[in-house]
Amino acid sequence: MRKRQLIGTILILALAALVAVGLWQTSTPRAPRLVAVARHPERIMGTTCTLVAVVPVSERPRATEALHRAEATLRRVEALMSVWLADSEISHLNSAPAHREVPLSPDTRHLLRAAQHAAAATGGAFDVTIQPLIQLWRSAGERGLLPTQADIDRARSASNWDMIELTDVGAVTHGEGFSADLGGIAKGYAIDRALEDIQSSGAAGGIVDVGGDLSCFGRPPIGEEWLVDIKSPFPETDLGELRIPSGAVCTSGNYARFTTIEGTRYSHIIDPRSGRPADAIPSVTVVAPEATTADIWATALSVLGPDGILLLPREAEALIVLGPQPDRRTICTPGFLEFLQDPPDALTIWENDHPSSQPG
Ligand code: ADP
Ligand code: MG
Repeated sequence: MRKRQLIGTILILALAALVAVGLWQTSTPRAPRLVAVARHPERIMGTTCTLVAVVPVSERPRATEALHRAEATLRRVEALMSVWLADSEISHLNSAPAHREVPLSPDTRHLLRAAQHAAAATGGAFDVTIQPLIQLWRSAGERGLLPTQADIDRARSASNWDMIELTDVGAVTHGEGFSADLGGIAKGYAIDRALEDIQSSGAAGGIVDVGGDLSCFGRPPIGEEWLVDIKSPFPETDLGELRIPSGAVCTSGNYARFTTIEGTRYSHIIDPRSGRPADAIPSVTVVAPEATTADIWATALSVLGPDGILLLPREAEALIVLGPQPDRRTICTPGFLEFLQDPPDALTIWENDHPSSQPG
C-alpha cells in the first residue's frame, strides 16, 4: 500500500513538473528567428542604394512591402528636389519669374525651411542659395577655364536668402538670377523619410544607405549594433569602423566628386564666403540622430574645418580628416570617439574650445 502511494506521489510530481515546464515554455516563447530582407534599387540620386529590413522569417512579405515603400520615398524626394531633373519642384522654382509665387509640396517647403535654419546655424557655411556659384564652377570645369573674380562676384551676389521668401504654400523669389541647390541636404532628408517607412512597418531593425550616407535603427542582422565603415578620402588609409545602436552617418569630401581645371582639382563643395571651392578638408564624417542633420554638417564642416565644431549641435558628433598625405591628421569630437571601434592613427580629440593631442 505504502509502495503504491509512493509511486502515485512520484507520478503526480512528475506530471506537475511536466505541466510547469510546458507553462514556462509557452510563457517565455523562444525569440523568433530574424532575417534581413534587402533591396538594392538602382539609379537613385545618381548613386547606388541598399535598403534592409530585419524581421522574423514569417514577416518577409511585410518587409518586402516596406522596402518598396522606402524606395518609392527616395524616388519621390529626388523627383521633387533634384536640380538635375528639369521637372522637379526646385527646378520650377529656379526657373520661375521673380515675384510670382511658386506652389511647393510640404516636403520641399519643409526642407527649404530646414536649409534656411542651417544657413544661420552654420554661420552661412551651408547655404543652398549658392546654386549660381555651383553652376559657375561646374561650367568652369566643363570648359577647363577658371572663372574670373568678376564672374565669382556676380554669382555671389545672386546667392543669398534675401532673394527668396518662403510662404505658407510655396516660395517667391525676388530679383533676377536666384537659384537653389538642395544637393547637400536632400539625400539626408530622403534617407530619414525612407527609414521611417521601414520603422513604421514594425521591423525589428533596418537601414537605408544611399551612396554611403545612411541611417539605421534597431536590430542589425548580426550582433547588437550596426557596424559602419568610415569612408576614407585616401585609398591607402583605413579610418576604421563605427559601432552605432541607431542614427545616421554621412560623409562629405572633395575626394569623390570634383572638377579639374588647368590641372588642379577643385571640390564640388563651395565656400559661400569666398565663392570658391572648399578644398582644405579632404573629408568629414558626421554621426547624428537624423540624416538631414548629418548631411548638413558634413558639408558645413567641409567648409569650416575644425573651427566649425564649436557650432555643431549637441546631438551631432564629427570626425574631420585634415591635410593631404603624408601629413594627414584626423580630429574628432569626444562623443565620436565612443562610436569608434579602433581609433585611427594620429587622432586628435577636440576638447571644448581647444584640441588636445591623444596618442593614436
Ligand atoms: P555628397 O553629395 O557627396 O554627399 P555633400 O553632401 O557634401 O556631398 O553635398 C555636396 C553638394 O551640396 C554639392 O554637389 C552641391 O550641390 C551642394 N553644395 C556645395 N556647397 C554647398 C554649401 N556650401 N552649402 C550647401 N550646399 C552646398
Ligand atoms: Mg552629403
